[in-house]
This record gives sequence, C-alpha cells and structure tokens, in this order.
Amino acid sequence: MSVITNRPKGTQDVLPSEVYKWQTVERCAAETAECFGFKEMRFPTFENTALFKRSVGDTTDVVQKEMYSVAAKSPANGKDPDDFTLRPEGTAGAARAAIENGLLKEALPQKVYYMISCFRHEKPQAGRLREFHQFGAEMYGSADASADAEVISLAKSLLDRLGLENVELFINSIGCPKCRAEYHKALKEYFSERKDELCPTCLERLERNPMRILDCKSPICQGIAKGAPVILDFLCEECSAHFEKLKTLLDDMGIKFSVDPKIVRGLDYYTKTVFEFITNDIGAQGTVCGGGRYDGLIEQLGGDPLPALGFAMGLERIIMTMENAGVEFVPARKCDLYIASMGEAAQRKAAVLTNILRAEGFYVEADTMGRGIKPQMKYANKIGATFTIVLGDNELEAGKAKLKNMETGEQVDISLGDSFIDEFSNNLIAEMFKAEEG
Ligand code: ATP
Ligand code: MG
Repeated sequence: MSVITNRPKGTQDVLPSEVYKWQTVERCAAETAECFGFKEMRFPTFENTALFKRSVGDTTDVVQKEMYSVAAKSPANGKDPDDFTLRPEGTAGAARAAIENGLLKEALPQKVYYMISCFRHEKPQAGRLREFHQFGAEMYGSADASADAEVISLAKSLLDRLGLENVELFINSIGCPKCRAEYHKALKEYFSERKDELCPTCLERLERNPMRILDCKSPICQGIAKGAPVILDFLCEECSAHFEKLKTLLDDMGIKFSVDPKIVRGLDYYTKTVFEFITNDIGAQGTVCGGGRYDGLIEQLGGDPLPALGFAMGLERIIMTMENAGVEFVPARKCDLYIASMGEAAQRKAAVLTNILRAEGFYVEADTMGRGIKPQMKYANKIGATFTIVLGDNELEAGKAKLKNMETGEQVDISLGDSFIDEFSNNLIAEMFKAEEG
C-alpha cells in the first residue's frame, strides 16, 4: 500500500493489536507511582529552547546534536519569532512547571510522575528512536539519602511488577560542584596526556566539560576512559556520607546493586547520586532507566534553591525487554457479546440492546455494515466474542432469543425484555468463573 508519505524515520506506529502492551506498562507505572505517593503531572511537548540549554547543558550531546528546535513563522509585529524545542526529556519541563505554578512552595516533598513522548535527533536503531516515550518521576525538596532510596525503590518496584527481575541496578555518586572541581583537574591532566587519540568532540569537551568524555560512545575514547581517575576517590565528606547512607538503605530494603564509578549520565544537571538500570536482553541499548539527584537545577532555573532528584524509564526499551523475557502483558479486553440481526426491525432492536448493555459497562458489538447473518457471525468469531445472540422476526415476536456461548456452542434462552441485562450478566459472570477455574 502506498501512502502519500511514510512515517518519519525513527518514529513508530502502535497498532490496535499491539497497544495492550503499552497499556499494561502505563497502567502498572501509574499504579506503582501512586503507591509511592507520586501524583501525575502534565506539561507541554515543547518549551522555550533556553530551558533545555540551561538545564540539560550546553556541552551535552542532547543540546549540541539531538534537539529538534522549531521557530514559528515571523510574527507580524516584526519581533523575532520564539525559539521552541520539542522536549528531549522530562526533567526540565517538569521542574519549570513546578516552579512556575508554585508547587515547590507547598508542603514538601512534592512528588510527581509523567508519561511523555520525547524527541531526539539520533541515529535510529533497535531501542533508539527519534520519538520515544518515557515514564518519569521527580521528587522535590528532600536532600536526604532516604529520598534517593525511595526514588530508586519506585523504579525497582515497577520493574519487578512488570516481571523484569533480571534488570541490574548500577549506582554511582558524581559529587557536588565542590568535589568535582578537584576531579575535573585530575581528568584534564589524564586526558591531556592522550589528547592525540581523542575524538574531535572530546577534544572540545576536554576544555569545557571533561566528565562528558567518560560518556563518549566512540570505542577509542571509551578505551582511554577506562584508565581515567574515578570520581568516588574525590568525593567530599558530605557527598561520601550521602552515598554510604544510600547504600545502607538499599541493602536494608533488599535492593541489589553494583557500584559503577564510570556512570556519569548524559545530562549536566546531576549531583551526588546517579543510577542506571541495565538489561542484557535487548542488545546494545540496554539502559532501560536512568536517573539521579540534581540539587542545583531548581535554583538554576530561577526557583528558590531546593534539592531534587528523579529518573526516566524508556518505555520502548521496557516493552522490548518484556517481550524478550516472555513476560505476560495484560491482554486486550474481549468482546462480551455480539448481537447479530436479520432485517431492519431486528437491526433496530439490536442497536437498542447494545446501547443498554454498553451503558452498564459491557463490551458489546452489533452489525454496522449491513451484512447478512453469515458474515456477521464470521466477524463475531474473528473478534473473539464470548457470547452471540441472533435476532430475527421470530425472536422479536417471542420477546426472547438464544444466547450462544461461542466456545462451547451451548445455547440458553434469554429474555429481550426487562430482565435482559440481569440474565446476560449472570451468564457472563458464570462464564468468567468457569474460565478462571479452567
Ligand atoms: P543512552 O545512553 O541510551 O543514549 P541517555 O543517557 O541518553 O541514554 P536519558 O536521557 O537518561 O538517556 O533518558 C532516560 C531513558 O530514556 C534511557 O535510559 C532510555 O531508556 C530512554 N531513551 C533515551 N534516549 C532514547 C532514544 N533515543 N530512544 C529510545 N529510548 C531512549
Ligand atoms: Mg542518549
């Protein structure tokens, strides 16, 4: 089939036959977040470009190479058009919304979650898209390591509930600006000695933001980075105590983790704790969740100074991992009843009965194609209807019809009068019990 244009590279269509997988994850994420006291927040798909430059960081890949920035047509008043960017991630927009709406002046901590689409101009490959989706959670107001433990525990709980118990947790601390000054010096010294081998981007990073080199995807830079000094050796007393407390709390909760001193994360706003959940099941793009603390961001964006932290999970990668692990998704709802009809009077009656049952919450279908009985029944079969009713002149006259169980072929009488809803729901409940026992 040729359409006038195909979907843009790096985007995905989710068809009705697949959407139950997304719904499984989205519902589970919302339910888990709510158990932890996180409330949903919604905010715009695009923001002023300055927001991302300020928060994500000028020297990051995201800002330097991956942002989709758009300008509206020049306004009639002769002013420069606004410069907008499709959000590459959720933390900046969520923080902006929290500050702008006074959320951070309310009782602390404030805990929010979101389910959003994000946009990054990257080379599309398995698990790496240009439009992708994140479940994110952010917690504002607590500087204590117990908040870090709670946020990590939320991510872990969700992965467990989804049946992904083999996803591994890696944690690190990247310290505060105080300890990082010393560390930057050490890194600069180390990488300067091997300047000739670094990629051009890393050469630039060496001057402006040497920690970014540790996150470079080039195998040569990665090789060099292997021997680089590690931040954990440079932590100040406060950052070090914070990290120790987090490890104790995770141990107490039985959350397994490994310390990986190489995790620096791709966004500039992180301080102290950073973490990633990684799976080996889906190839190279195995990071299903990344997060950490960002104690300086709120102030940097114009709010009163306030510690904060959060994470984001890539939903495409989560679903891929679930598929590969063979874990079950909550199946799509099955059609409870198909009402087939012969002739106009019967079609009208079918529409009325369908409406009555739908109003009660049942999933009911009737013919809207003007087809004969045979194709109607074929369709009922195809959509997997649990029961069918065939309505014709005889049924209308008698005020009753046969309710057929499509799996067993069993038929029982059902009144089309006042007791229709009760009789139908009794049959459906009995069937559901049987299905559960079987
Ligand atoms: P990566 O190292 O894989 O590029 P990142 O550090 O850029 O990830 P974050 O900005 O921390 O990722 O985003 C959080 C999560 O969002 C990632 O762990 C991943 O699961 C998901 N994610 C990020 N970029 C993409 C993308 N282009 N396509 C699909 N999922 C993505
Ligand atoms: Mg990335």
